[in-house]
Amino acid sequence: MAFFNIKDTVKALKEGTVTSAQLVKDSIDTFEKDKASAIPLNAFLEMYSDAAEKAEAADKEIAEAKAAGTLDDLYSKKPLLGVPFAVKDNISVKGQRLTCGSKILEGYVAPYNATVINRLEASGAIPLGRCNQDEFAMGSSTEYSSYGPTRNPINRDFVSGGSSGGPAAAVSANQALFGLGTETGGSVRLPASYCGIYGLKTTYGVLSRWGVVAYGSSLDQVGLLAHTPDDIAKTLSVMAGTDMYDDTSADLPDSDQLADLAAFTDEEISKLKIAIPKQFLETEGMLSDVSAVFENVKNWLSSKGAKIDVVDLPILDASIASYYVIALSEAASNLSRFDGIRYGRRVDNGQGYDELYVQTRSEGFGPEVKRRIVIGNYVLSEQFSGDTYKKGMTVRAKIQSEMAKLFESYDIVLCPTCPTPAFKLGQKVDSPLEMYLSDLFTTFVNLARITSISIPAGKTTEANGSMPVGIQFAGAMFSEVKVLKLAQAWENEHPGCGIPLK
Ligand code: GLN
Repeated sequence: MAFFNIKDTVKALKEGTVTSAQLVKDSIDTFEKDKASAIPLNAFLEMYSDAAEKAEAADKEIAEAKAAGTLDDLYSKKPLLGVPFAVKDNISVKGQRLTCGSKILEGYVAPYNATVINRLEASGAIPLGRCNQDEFAMGSSTEYSSYGPTRNPINRDFVSGGSSGGPAAAVSANQALFGLGTETGGSVRLPASYCGIYGLKTTYGVLSRWGVVAYGSSLDQVGLLAHTPDDIAKTLSVMAGTDMYDDTSADLPDSDQLADLAAFTDEEISKLKIAIPKQFLETEGMLSDVSAVFENVKNWLSSKGAKIDVVDLPILDASIASYYVIALSEAASNLSRFDGIRYGRRVDNGQGYDELYVQTRSEGFGPEVKRRIVIGNYVLSEQFSGDTYKKGMTVRAKIQSEMAKLFESYDIVLCPTCPTPAFKLGQKVDSPLEMYLSDLFTTFVNLARITSISIPAGKTTEANGSMPVGIQFAGAMFSEVKVLKLAQAWENEHPGCGIPLK
């Protein structure tokens, strides 16, 4: 792909130095080459068969508007015209396959578009292809996909992170300009940090969940992956807002500032109050390289006069336990719909419905999903463990209220995205607990329903593989504009910090 951000790409499309068809063709060629290579990246599972056609239609619209002298007018109505993007395999694109990285949905075709897809298409963007993920978005490395792992484009011995590893790797490898992922507990920020790009988790409700396959419904959100905060802002600007098909959706108050994002000035940064949770600084197992990158971001903020305090939030120590109790309970309930009758795969030995359910689910779900369904149902069963669910909910309520209180005095919570950078393939795949701990610094955001961006802030030393390290700016509910403006100020001074934009 010839351009690395939306602004330059749109400029080139308008000037005619590139066409949308060329951008799509480049990505398809790279995909084909990658598929045939010895160690495939496996970011895309497939390219949509109609992407090239849609790109040609966009080029035609551009050419006609140019001839009529109405090009600027066209782009004010369709600001992403001709811009291709990657889609996680749990977001519905009408007429296209959708598997959630699972065998149980093999052969399933989405009957309608997710609202986020409708809105992006209305703005002229082109859905390019379906990207890999951990099965049903459960995981932190994309190794739990039934369709092979997605590797890290910076170094293919390492994982891409998860569960949105596919779209993150696609964007990082310049195979798409931006990507749609989903977050339940960190699945956009984590792969963004591992792959050296920006990843935004939006406030619960800002992006409609209509047409997005549910994992933990009280936590699930669509998230965005891109090379710059400005790109994220541009795409968010056309997608954000209430949707009659999703009762939990809500408007983003200052979304008019997204289309043309102004980075915070030094003066604006000097007025910010930043909180660093003490609990995260004291985390056992935090790699010293991550601490070094974190110090660097902290120093950047304080050198500009931001006020930085270390705050004591003991409840955060319980966030990962609360998250896994709630997420797995909701997952057990949500995944009961995959029964062999309504969606995708069916295994029927002619021995009746009970046997059909059992066989379909036994063959269709992978081991990690089964583990979670079993744990989730156990936690929900009053006889054994109903108290655990209530405890999880109580902790969540406390996290929510303490974060709300914190944001009365602070603008931003600053912390690493993950205690460690990308790890080697196979390193944690057999140790679920270790894998779950990758989410140590991300789940409080989902539980509190707030927003957070992971920024590519630096790299580990050579001894640790020179892999990208992500740092988070988390903000109060509906403060997307604030975190994006701060992230853009970082980007302006540290362009391509995660990976070089060659
Ligand atoms: N890694 C976490 C989990 O496995 C988060 C996943 C997500 O955000 N979808 O549940």
